[in-house]
Amino acid sequence: MRISHLTPHLTQLTKLGWVNAYLVRESDGLTVVDTAMSAADELIAAARALGAPIRRIALTHGHGDHVGSLDALRKRLGPDVPVLMTETDARILAGEPVEFSDRRRGSWPKITTRPDVTLAPGDRVGGLEVVASPGHTPGHVAFLDTRDRTLIAGDAFVTLGGVEIPSRPTFPFPLAWMGTCDRRQAVESASALRALAPELLVVGHGGAVRAPVAAMDAAITRARRAA
Ligand SMILES: [Zn+2]
Repeated sequence: MRISHLTPHLTQLTKLGWVNAYLVRESDGLTVVDTAMSAADELIAAARALGAPIRRIALTHGHGDHVGSLDALRKRLGPDVPVLMTETDARILAGEPVEFSDRRRGSWPKITTRPDVTLAPGDRVGGLEVVASPGHTPGHVAFLDTRDRTLIAGDAFVTLGGVEIPSRPTFPFPLAWMGTCDRRQAVESASALRALAPELLVVGHGGAVRAPVAAMDAAITRARRAA
């Protein structure tokens, strides 16, 4: 697992070269944002190296490559470390029937951990503000660090091979497109995230992009043209 210290608040952990999880520093310890897969030990070791306890786990969405270490983390960290996610994605993960606009659903693994706290747009998670960004999944959210305008965008954008919106096949990483359930909504959400004028864009798949607004604009233009 590759570890990059991106800002004083943000550490990126990259598993297998293509899936990211994040540790966000708060005054009381660390927030894990997304968990990658089979990465519980590595996330805990990275937190230990930062010298701070993991206080909570917040999820952008319920796909397997973002919640894949959740059960193992719950086992290792215990129930005092709450899991936060949106109600919509939690319901899909729990196997409830939820209407999807397009045929695609992406991978929703069977996991036993249920969220302890329901996230809604506008909620605060320490220095992070929860921002609605449905489209990739029905309950997808992004997190804006209002201390330095870092946007943790989950799969609302991908940056592997350049900044793109996975509303259409993007290469070399078409997997995010294959899991995007509402392509039109994904473009609208990407545009709403761009309006936040982030200083740093980090995502589920691909490297961090500094001063990302022009690249986000170009991605929105390409996605609208392809729609
Ligand atoms: Zn996804």
